[in-house]
Amino acid sequence: MSKNILFIAPPAGGKGTICRVLVEKDNYVHISTGEMLRDIEDEKIKRDLANGNLIDDKIVIDLITKKLSSLNGKPFILDGFPRTLAQGIELDKILNELNLTIDLVIDLKVSNDTLIKRITGRLICPHCNRTYNKFFMPPRVSGICDVCNNNLIKRTDDNEETFKVRYKTFIEETFPLIDFYKSQGKVISIDGEDNIYEHIVSVINND
Ligand SMILES: [Zn+2]
Repeated sequence: MSKNILFIAPPAGGKGTICRVLVEKDNYVHISTGEMLRDIEDEKIKRDLANGNLIDDKIVIDLITKKLSSLNGKPFILDGFPRTLAQGIELDKILNELNLTIDLVIDLKVSNDTLIKRITGRLICPHCNRTYNKFFMPPRVSGICDVCNNNLIKRTDDNEETFKVRYKTFIEETFPLIDFYKSQGKVISIDGEDNIYEHIVSVINND
């Protein structure tokens, strides 16, 4: 039985990788606000993303509502939303109207050192969106995508300065959501330092 999942993790917490595996193996719909926002051609949004600022609630909520309305009963993973308590409250209203619920909130715990390596080592294929890391998960050939042979790139917002801004925002704005979802009995904390896919799958399949 699939569960609808929300990930709460610091920037570079490793959500993207786990989400990809869940989508490939378990037929999940991955709802990533980061990816949806990066696809929008808008200078202000691009600037805010590059600077690590939060994006205007209305824009993000519209995107999420559209996506959640088009699921046709498939299980989903929310990644990158909600980022604030206010958004969490808003999300509950949207889910209610659509007759959907979040079943499980995964609180991914990762140390600061690991996060910084993940950020500064991250490489992305602009063609198929697969991500690599030069410290933890290098491509077979340096700088080249294993899947489609395109040149890998670094995202402009993947640097230590932007990370610090995003991490501070995470602690101040996003972290309070853990208590919000704990009060609904939905939170499971997982050590995100190493092989977490198996752990997450056992949590999802365990009632
Ligand atoms: Zn590729």
